[in-house]
Amino acid sequence: MAALLELENIRRSYPSGDEQVEVLKGIGLQIEAGEMVAIIGASGSGKSTLMNIIGCLDKPSAGRYRVAGVDVSQLNSDKLAQLRREHFGFIFQRYHLLSHLSATQNVEVPAVYAGIPLARRQARARELLSRLGLEGRLTYRPGQLSGGQQQRVSIARALMNGGQVILADEPTGALDSHSGEEVMATLRQLCAAGHTVIIVTHDASVAAQAERIIEIRDGEIISNPPPVSHPAAQSFTRPSEKRVGSWRQKLGAFREALTMAGLAMMANKMRTLLTMLGIIIGIASVSSIVIVGEAAQEQVLSDIRAIGTNTIDIYPGKDFGDDEPQYRQALKFDDMTAIEHQPWVHSASPRISKSLRVRYGNRDAAASVTGVNGQYFSVYGMAFSEGGGFNQTQIDSRAQVVVIDKNTRRQLFPDKAQVVGEVLLVGNTPATIIGVAKDKSSMFGSSKTLSVWMPWSTITGRISGQSWLDTITVRVNDGFDSALAEQRLTQLLELRHGRRDFFTYNMDELLKTAEKTTGTLQLFLTLVAVISLLVGGIGVMNIMLVSVAERTREIGIRMAVGARASDVLQQFLIEAVLVCLVGGAIGMMLTLTIAFTLRLFLPGWEIGFSPMALLMAFLCSTLTGVLFGWLPARRAAKMNPIDALARE
Ligand code: ADP
Ligand code: MG
Repeated sequence: MAALLELENIRRSYPSGDEQVEVLKGIGLQIEAGEMVAIIGASGSGKSTLMNIIGCLDKPSAGRYRVAGVDVSQLNSDKLAQLRREHFGFIFQRYHLLSHLSATQNVEVPAVYAGIPLARRQARARELLSRLGLEGRLTYRPGQLSGGQQQRVSIARALMNGGQVILADEPTGALDSHSGEEVMATLRQLCAAGHTVIIVTHDASVAAQAERIIEIRDGEIISNPPPVSHPAAQSFTRPSEKRVGSWRQKLGAFREALTMAGLAMMANKMRTLLTMLGIIIGIASVSSIVIVGEAAQEQVLSDIRAIGTNTIDIYPGKDFGDDEPQYRQALKFDDMTAIEHQPWVHSASPRISKSLRVRYGNRDAAASVTGVNGQYFSVYGMAFSEGGGFNQTQIDSRAQVVVIDKNTRRQLFPDKAQVVGEVLLVGNTPATIIGVAKDKSSMFGSSKTLSVWMPWSTITGRISGQSWLDTITVRVNDGFDSALAEQRLTQLLELRHGRRDFFTYNMDELLKTAEKTTGTLQLFLTLVAVISLLVGGIGVMNIMLVSVAERTREIGIRMAVGARASDVLQQFLIEAVLVCLVGGAIGMMLTLTIAFTLRLFLPGWEIGFSPMALLMAFLCSTLTGVLFGWLPARRAAKMNPIDALARE
């Protein structure tokens, strides 16, 4: 029968400057199942290098190594990880325990990657630790344990998944003589129980406890007694633990990674917080812009709706700016009456514009006089600083009343405190001032000429006698489609006029334009916010890279006990996502605070907290984590376990 471990002409060289330094110079070795072998040699003779090759942590530069007849050079990294996980158990001189985990959790690590369910692996870890005399130290961290106790924890870890081959590299090197003897006694017991034990040491008294001593000097074997057969040894088969489905394994690894991520975050609270700050600001700005932006847009649109979006203006001519004489008189009073009789029309109001002089005492000025009806001021959202607008009686009776604007008041009444009730001349018609309109801060701007308003009937009946209208403003019933109304109006007037000598302007178009404008603005602001989120993400990437560099040893240990590259990748990715998610949650709370504060200051605003914003923040955080955690996680996963372990 072939030996359990067979090394054939194994060479290992390291690059040193321009040349290669050969550390192992053709090692040939056979180790049978159940043996207790000591490899002895001076410091620097290549023992650890050989041990790492035997444990499949490192690959030989040349030569062939077979484990239970399988050439390991044929195995991919996942298969090698499986081999380490299920068959080998490592014991290191410096214990290599994970400092933030308890004794039990440290022992459990290899089982996590083997996919053993939590309860089962906890029970087994406790049992192993108790067997090694550590029942009172289960929850202690490595830092709270003595060297001998730590080494016993690492022995328990080596046995977790079976550990048919125990590889101990200077297991007593860091221990006092008493603890060292205890560890050696344990290793002898394990050998007696059927485990294959390989010990590397420079100490002859330690080596003397093995049944076979292989001596190595400067990378060459100088003494190699024949293997000893152990018929009772554990055969190299699958571990006795029942294997579980791969989803179970994934879930276990996921939970482990989550715990680890939490621990890593807690271990560096200040740094975690600062890293998160970028994400917090990023998410808060993205979501508040979405929320506040929606409210602002709603505000602008409702302002526009207030001036009547369900109105359609009808003008004579082909289009704005058209002053062809043949069209000027196109709109008649009868048109207005006909329009008013349509069932879907709420009201129709005419507008007539004239340029006239206004006079008061010895002052006079040019003014644009507009004939309107009573609804005009409310439709255009105009307020009064004195007095008010027209009522229906004034319209019906062609009352000689006038509303003036601020400029007119300044021009004609510079010294008067009260102007309502004064009578001025509009053209040659005397009219009583009934109101002064406030300055309008609207999108319609102000002109150089003074503006005054009179009932339209007064202008047609008493001032100009004009029989046509300059504009008809039609207010459509609420709920009636304004595009359809526009179409119907056009049909009606075309039928009446026999030709198309008018055009319509739908206020709905203004609303659409405003919607588009505010939408563009919001998109722009969102982009700025996304940039801040990106900056936050880069912060996360930066810290994760630092974290990977700091935790190289941890990565090495995990790989040595059987973590696959994908497990390491997943762990660091989960850490990045967790940082971003927690940051995102805090950012969301910040947004809530901002939203509620804004509500206090802007009472009219409808600041809502939509589930859409919540979902978006969640997605953004996760995506940022994955995006910016990927590079550091990849770097961690690509690490060579040996290089990782070598760093202290
Ligand atoms: P031992 O364990 O017997 O003390 P090692 O196997 O650790 O010795 O190292 C044997 C030799 O190989 C040493 O001279 C060391 O400098 C060299 N060596 C080990 N690891 C590396 C490495 N990663 N790169 C270069 N040289 C190395
Ligand atoms: Mg060594």
